[in-house]
Amino acid sequence: LTQLFRPLDMLGMVYRTIRQGLIDMADMFRLLDTEQEVQDKPGAPALVVRRPSVVFEDVVFGYDRDRTILKGLSFEVPAGHHVALVGPSGAGKSTIGRLLFRFYDPWSGRILIDGQDIAEVSQTSLRAALGIVPQDSVLFNDTIGYNIGYGHPTGEATPAQIEAAAQAAALSGLIERLPARFDTEVGERGLKLSGGEKQRVAIARTLVKNPPILLLDEATSALDTRTEQDILATLHALSENRTSLSIAHRLSTIVDSDSILVLQDGRLVEQGNHAQLLRMDGLYAEMWARQANETQANETSEAVANAA
Ligand code: ADP
Ligand code: MG
Repeated sequence: LTQLFRPLDMLGMVYRTIRQGLIDMADMFRLLDTEQEVQDKPGAPALVVRRPSVVFEDVVFGYDRDRTILKGLSFEVPAGHHVALVGPSGAGKSTIGRLLFRFYDPWSGRILIDGQDIAEVSQTSLRAALGIVPQDSVLFNDTIGYNIGYGHPTGEATPAQIEAAAQAAALSGLIERLPARFDTEVGERGLKLSGGEKQRVAIARTLVKNPPILLLDEATSALDTRTEQDILATLHALSENRTSLSIAHRLSTIVDSDSILVLQDGRLVEQGNHAQLLRMDGLYAEMWARQANETQANETSEAVANAA
């Protein structure tokens, strides 16, 4: 009977996932064995990552022929740098992530990782080099150990690897409290995890995968401010010694980035670090001022609610 229910679980999961936007589709495709839009070139070699840099070279792309989303986008994330991508909703930020994973090919222009055009290498090797922590992580109806270990490139994480990842993602406390520790079932039929705990599982999963390049797509934007602060420290640890591209909704989470790219309507309109962008007094400065006001308003209403 369990066997029979698995595909249904999977469909529910896929539906929720697609609704949520950018996810680790590479794994999803592998699981579902579905037809992919993008095919490997015959004999495509594996991507070899020595210095994990990411370069977009004049990338033009749209989902439909009659609507261009990215209108000639060029930027570089040097190896080991942490670069943030900000901009209004609909600007094309998540699209950049989807192109990096090669769910689609650009209409023109190129995307390079460590100097290699991602359209020329095998998709398996490309996706092995990339890790993603999305806004809402997907958990399988399985044990928490499975949910963490599933990040492993061959799917064969050892208990020691799973435990180390859980510890680094600050999950040890939770796991100690669970009835069957790592063998505790989670998801719809098991333990319900909070948003913050789910993100920690996603982080642990990514630690097990150990990719040189990380994509964080609004990884903390579904969390309340306090949980977000908690998780951010763990995300910083995850990003260490890796190249990262962080798509951020709340600007306060990316002020320390090496560089911030400001995207508007499919174009890069500003670029610099936080201080430089504030001095430019353009779109970023405006977004920053607006969010500072909102934060103040929220804190005031939270204080009022707490006092009541
Ligand atoms: P952001 O992440 O900056 O909010 P996205 O990259 O998700 O923006 O989307 C950019 C634009 O592309 C939006 O107008 C969105 O509606 C559109 N879009 C996103 N995904 C698809 C899709 N699968 N098919 C058609 N249009 C899409
Ligand atoms: Mg997005």
